[in-house]
Amino acid sequence: MSNWSSTSALKHFQMGETIFSEGDPGDSAYIIESGSVEVAVSVDGQPFPLRILTSGDVLGEMAVMDTAPRSASAKALEETVCVAISSRQISERVQDADPVVQLLVNTLLHRIRSTPQIASSTKSNIATGLQAESPSEDNDKVLDKMRLESELQAALTNNQLRPHYQPLVNIQTRQILGFEALIRWFSPTRGHVSPGEFTSIAEETSLIIPIGQQTIQQSCRDLVQFQTLCPDRPLFISINVAPRQLAEDDFLTNLQTVIDQNRLKPAQIKLEVTERVFMEDPVALETLQRCRQAGFHIALDDFGTGFSSLNYLTRFEVDGFKIDRAFVQEIITNQRTQVLLESMLTMAHGLGMQTVVEGIETQEQLDVLQRSGCDIGQGYLFGKALPFAEVQQLLLQEAAHNPIRV
Ligand code: C2E
Ligand code: CA
Ligand code: CA
Repeated sequence: MSNWSSTSALKHFQMGETIFSEGDPGDSAYIIESGSVEVAVSVDGQPFPLRILTSGDVLGEMAVMDTAPRSASAKALEETVCVAISSRQISERVQDADPVVQLLVNTLLHRIRSTPQIASSTKSNIATGLQAESPSEDNDKVLDKMRLESELQAALTNNQLRPHYQPLVNIQTRQILGFEALIRWFSPTRGHVSPGEFTSIAEETSLIIPIGQQTIQQSCRDLVQFQTLCPDRPLFISINVAPRQLAEDDFLTNLQTVIDQNRLKPAQIKLEVTERVFMEDPVALETLQRCRQAGFHIALDDFGTGFSSLNYLTRFEVDGFKIDRAFVQEIITNQRTQVLLESMLTMAHGLGMQTVVEGIETQEQLDVLQRSGCDIGQGYLFGKALPFAEVQQLLLQEAAHNPIRV
């Protein structure tokens, strides 16, 4: 498991403060949020200003990309705030890039570095007034992504990521059977950031590994508390797991340690994976198989929305399907959707699998699904994802309405 240093993404520099010096190791690059920075090289022992960078510009990226010492110094010209981008963030992206792109990046870096006098070639810039380059729209998008990633790492360290829990109910009786853990991030600067936005960034990098591990630990601890309010039946927790997490050697060992510490049974943990897991890293699929052998339940998420064939189901057994909410949305208005949904339910039951239908919002949709023989429902009709304390309230209310049946 990777180690994550406790760093804040934002760095403040006073006027005149050195951000880095020539010869320093390149441990981070910076995006300037506000203020301005002068980049200079030393020529015959004298500092020679190269350029002035302002808000939106990036600096220090070269030394980070090729892990060579800094070839220039940078100092703040006024009070300046930067987002630090760690060498891990950048090198991971270069390593993950297509080999041709890697080669081009490395060649380009080598060429820039070996240009005899970076300083002399930029003297003309100085003569024309040290213009800062304005980043293109594409650059803006990339920079915003890097910024978000840095903030996400800081959010992880500062405990700003919390699972909320959405009820999964028996579709006939509406009794709560378990919860799906859905991660929530409240950022002091951005407000609520949607998991759709940040889980994809976390999955592109290895940040999903510590985030996922924290979600597993927290949701298992919380499940123990929920269970005390619901002594008549075992509750389960459904946890979304990305292929990248499953590709880690110690995924299963860590999972087992967490459930042993909390005295939970493997069957109380459902791992939700999308069919991407069948197409990406074979190591991830092997881990999933071992998890299933160890008694953890595997549910295929967003079922019906992918593009792969169903062939993988002949080779790999799962315990359940989660039928995507796209089908439920049209179940009333589109007869064909209803037929497709019913066929999926028949197939799942034929294979001995449990079915969950996601995104149920209306009583009308529920009525159709109850007649179709689906097992478990999830959706705003039963409740949105709630924080820990509100789930406790919900379970207390449920117990008050339905006294314990032993
Ligand atoms: P998902 O796993 O398909 O989660 C279901 C999403 O549908 C959730 O969005 C949930 O709030 C939303 N939803 C549930 N019922 C309804 C409904 O009745 N109507 C509508 N319109 N939406 C409904 P959310 O929480 O924004 O999560 C989005 C995605 O983020 C998840 O999709 C999942 O792919 C990812 N995600 C969330 N938490 C985690 C996590 O801990 N790990 C990983 N790897 N991914 C996560
Ligand atoms: Ca899910
Ligand atoms: Ca889903």
